[in-house]
Amino acid sequence: MSTLLETDICILGGGIAGLWLNARLRQQGYSTLLLETATLGGGQSIKSQGIIHGGTKYALHGKLTTAAEAIAAMPKRWRDCLEGTGEIDLTSVRLLSPYHYLWSPGGLVSNMAGFFASKALRGRVDAVKGETLPPVFQSPRFKGKVYRLAELVLDVPSVIQRLSELADDSLIAADSISIERDADNQIACVRTGDLTIKAQRYVLTGGEGNQALQAAWGVEQPAMQRRPLQMVLVKGAQLPGLYAHCLGSSPKPRLTVTTHPTADGQWCWYLGGELAEQGVDLSAEALIKRAQTELAELLPWVDLSACQWATLKVNRAEPAQSGLVRPDSAYVQGVHNALVCWPTKLALSPHLSDLVLEQLQVDRITPSKPQPVHTQAKPAAATPIWDTCF
Ligand SMILES: Cc1cc2nc3c(=O)[nH]c(=O)nc-3n(C[C@H](O)[C@H](O)[C@H](O)COP(=O)(O)OP(=O)(O)OC[C@H]3O[C@@H](n4cnc5c(N)ncnc54)[C@H](O)[C@@H]3O)c2cc1C
Repeated sequence: MSTLLETDICILGGGIAGLWLNARLRQQGYSTLLLETATLGGGQSIKSQGIIHGGTKYALHGKLTTAAEAIAAMPKRWRDCLEGTGEIDLTSVRLLSPYHYLWSPGGLVSNMAGFFASKALRGRVDAVKGETLPPVFQSPRFKGKVYRLAELVLDVPSVIQRLSELADDSLIAADSISIERDADNQIACVRTGDLTIKAQRYVLTGGEGNQALQAAWGVEQPAMQRRPLQMVLVKGAQLPGLYAHCLGSSPKPRLTVTTHPTADGQWCWYLGGELAEQGVDLSAEALIKRAQTELAELLPWVDLSACQWATLKVNRAEPAQSGLVRPDSAYVQGVHNALVCWPTKLALSPHLSDLVLEQLQVDRITPSKPQPVHTQAKPAAATPIWDTCF
């Protein structure tokens, strides 16, 4: 026999977007249920580099768009949360680096001129030298320039863990989900196993899975785009911490490196940027070779001979843009009695929650149902990729 659970808001998908939103809604007194078909954070979130961008990367084009200004507020919002004074208490979350850096191996004057001409960057970039350089750049063989960005890097598994604690009994592990619609194409209910869930509003935060959810519901818009990447992972016991974009000759970072702790006490460099975008169709072996050549050219004093190497294919899921360009703010689209969402960046999850809360206010959806009681299992949190890829 089917059990009916009624809630104010039903969230479909427990990545960073769904989990952050769930925490904010619960604070505001809404009852919520969050359904997850796999593991919490196990989509793009756990595979992200954890950089809380402030938009500096986009200023490599010489300007920040107005929409990109939304991102400028994010580092401070996250820092406040880490310090316990923000909208969500993230004091238990592990900060990997208080700053992300920008490093120029030299000879890129025109690119840097455009970058520093951007007035949006004032007060957000500082040149660092000598002892203030991150240790990895303190080699006498390093000839480039390093700039410190007002951005931070987080251990995403610990963010997911914290948000999962805050979600408490609102989480439901769902083997599969079916959506029933009424004659007006509104979502009538969501079913999983012997549960039927009815909500005032449904929020789709399934990442790449939003497309299948929309198809199950029979709604085509908003359309989604995938941007495929093949990331490179380098694991070693002696790897120095490196959190930086390396500038190349194009407006996109040639390489973006973050460093993550592994369960066996080692460190893992996680390499993105152009390397991951352009390497998407290469075999793992060919991409690893390319990464080895890049690192030998850029950081020849770092000994990587004893390291283990792996690659990871992953898609970024975002609202469709013309020409596969990147969207630069969170995206929330109302469709009948649902909201279809992509944060487009982990860093923008707080912004996504603002947009959802604003929309609920516009639609006069207020807290009215008590938190439903259920006995369903909670979904597990995803295992960090640096512990599964090697
Ligand atoms: C390689 C890489 C590096 C990145 N680095 C950064 C970075 O440094 N900084 C940054 O800000 N952003 C970064 N991003 C972007 C960021 O990771 C994403 O924008 C963000 O994680 C998306 O969160 P999400 O919750 O929308 O999606 P996801 O994390 O993909 O979560 C969606 C969840 O929904 C679940 N789901 C799917 N279908 C269903 C269904 N039918 N029912 C219920 N649940 C479902 C999935 O299992 C998953 O748990 C990066 C992305 C990638 C791929």
